[in-house]
Parts: sequence; C-alpha cells; structure tokens
Amino acid sequence: MAPSHQHGMPHRLACPQCGRADLDLREYRSMMVLSADLAFFSLDCPHCAARVATVQAIPASLRDMVEFAAIKVGAGMGHGR
Ligand SMILES: [Zn+2]
Repeated sequence: MAPSHQHGMPHRLACPQCGRADLDLREYRSMMVLSADLAFFSLDCPHCAARVATVQAIPASLRDMVEFAAIKVGAGMGHGR
C-alpha cells in the first residue's frame, strides 16, 4: 500500500520482522532525541515481539514533551537559537 495520503495516522511503522504496518511510534519503549524534530525510537512489535529501532520525525503529539529534551541536546550541537 502506498502511503500517499497520510491524514489520519502518520505515526505508523512497519515491522521488519513480520511486516505488519501498524506499529505506533507513540507506543515507543524508549526514545532518544537527536534534534528538535528527529528522534531514535525503539519499540516492541505487538505481533511478533521483535524489537524495532528506527530514526523518525517526532510526532507532533510528542513534540511538546520533547522540546525540553531537545533544548538540552541542542545546547551541545551548535544549533542556532
Ligand atoms: Zn512484528
């Protein structure tokens, strides 16, 4: 399926193990902020229990929470502003 229209749920990931494409980024097990809008997520597939690790844009619904961490990270990265 081509994800050309991502209106409803843009936070879906596909599991590389079983191929299910309904993993939700917000169900992450751990998240490491890389920049203001990018993070390294690790989550467990609810279908096959595989550990999925991926770098994704931070969903808008998580951004508020992430901003605090991003400010800390940004301090060491020469990120303007
Ligand atoms: Zn899976």
